[in-house]
Amino acid sequence: MTEPVPILIGDRWLQPDSEQSSPVHRPATGEVIAQTPHCTSGDVDRAVAAAQAAFPAWSRTPAPDRARVLFNYRELLEANFEELAGTICRENGKTREEARGDVRRGIEVVELACGIGHLAKGEVLPELASGIDGMATREPVGVCAGITPFNFPAMVPMWMYPLAIACGNCFLLKPSEKVPFTANRLAELFVEAGLPPGVLGVIHGGRDVVEALCLHPGIAAVSFVGSSPVARRVYELAGQTGKRCQAAGGAKNVLFVMPDAVDDPTVKAILQSAFGCAGQRCMAGSLLLGVGDACDGLRDQVVSAMDTLTMGDTLADDDVSMGPVIDGAARERLVNSIGSAEADLTLVRDGREGVPDAGFFVGPTLLDHLRPEHDLFSDELFGPVLGLMRPQTLAEAIDWVNRIPYGNAATIFTRDGGAARTFAREVSCGMVGINVGVPAPMALFSFSGWDQSFFGDLHVQGTEGVLFYTRQKTTLTRWQGATTAFTGVGGIK
Ligand code: NAD
Repeated sequence: MTEPVPILIGDRWLQPDSEQSSPVHRPATGEVIAQTPHCTSGDVDRAVAAAQAAFPAWSRTPAPDRARVLFNYRELLEANFEELAGTICRENGKTREEARGDVRRGIEVVELACGIGHLAKGEVLPELASGIDGMATREPVGVCAGITPFNFPAMVPMWMYPLAIACGNCFLLKPSEKVPFTANRLAELFVEAGLPPGVLGVIHGGRDVVEALCLHPGIAAVSFVGSSPVARRVYELAGQTGKRCQAAGGAKNVLFVMPDAVDDPTVKAILQSAFGCAGQRCMAGSLLLGVGDACDGLRDQVVSAMDTLTMGDTLADDDVSMGPVIDGAARERLVNSIGSAEADLTLVRDGREGVPDAGFFVGPTLLDHLRPEHDLFSDELFGPVLGLMRPQTLAEAIDWVNRIPYGNAATIFTRDGGAARTFAREVSCGMVGINVGVPAPMALFSFSGWDQSFFGDLHVQGTEGVLFYTRQKTTLTRWQGATTAFTGVGGIK
């Protein structure tokens, strides 16, 4: 008996009568725990209509009152923190610590959104022209849609809807069909916090629902996070119907180690970046670049650290240090990629071996002597597979990094400020780490991928998130009979 996966339309949780569904697995054991229904275009229409009905009242609700609902929400998220983390462990397979991080990063966006009254303040210029005052205000855009991936079931949806809703919009969330329970619980808690019916809706499904959302005339803005081919498609579809769109895609992130890097913290950071969340982070370092001869020592240290990682049922055992990948298809794709790479590269650690029998496990894998010409240099594998490269100089490393079609993140490990500055200035990507393995900007800055890692111009969360979910209105005011000339000087009349 599998668990139901309802959708939220208006104030009702419903079971859509769809013919199509996708299995939800417990990745650590492989068992199927639910079937995610795929909504029909009729369900999408109903969800949009409910959000449209809620928009006039919500968009006119004073910002401090909207913020109060977000404060309540934050309290409820804290009160249910461990339960949410457990749901993520169960349906995504993360370790307990990783799942806690997933929820914590999401709560930070809610905290940011609590300051909406300040964040969305406009600009005023008195006496823009003779007798005319100018005012620019930020207005909500309408009904927004968010489409999210499986790898951060809490954080990525929360990059979107708390800010969108705080700005006065209504929001329809379409989470990954692989992890529906976290999204449903997050929405339930927001409703419990006092959100009026229809302001947040949740619908489930895959490609058809995404396309229906992108093309729906009742939707004003689309936020997407997922793989690059789908991000590009979503961006194109949303553009066809004149919507604003922010679409974050895949990545191939670099960890570059200079010979003078501090050993222990560097190796710990590499391990976290490459194998944390089983390599299923869009910020995961999947290319390790070690300069020249220093690379052999680095490789030995990384391998020793990899050998300490343990795999198992992350929900049952808090001490497990690495979880499974999301499903059987992901496992098969990774196993095949390791198999093909083995022919050309040196397989130092083989993640196909020594893994638990049940579940979708791939162990930490290291492939040495990777060159920029190899497929593995530019293909996103999205698993615990690290390619080791051996540039001779910093300049060569930067040249290689800039050949990657993605532009997500690159980190340098060094004690040399000059090298760090050169690297940070010269690499073509949107997020740079200096001795930081996962340079994710957190809620206060926008998550700023470039090139094939992002389609659009305003990124998710942070200041750009507020700009994305609001549009500017300028109002020029003239009052007949008002004094137009300023006669005071230095406060003396
Ligand atoms: P995905 O692209 O397969 O799915 C993302 C969403 O799109 C899901 O909701 C899914 O239902 C929907 N979808 C899937 N195929 C579709 C199609 N053909 N047409 C329309 N919609 C479709 O991504 P995923 O496997 O869930 O997540 C992993 C990917 O997400 C990786 O590439 C990772 O790098 C990326 N990611 C990027 C960021 C970022 O900020 N740049 C963050 C997290 C994950």
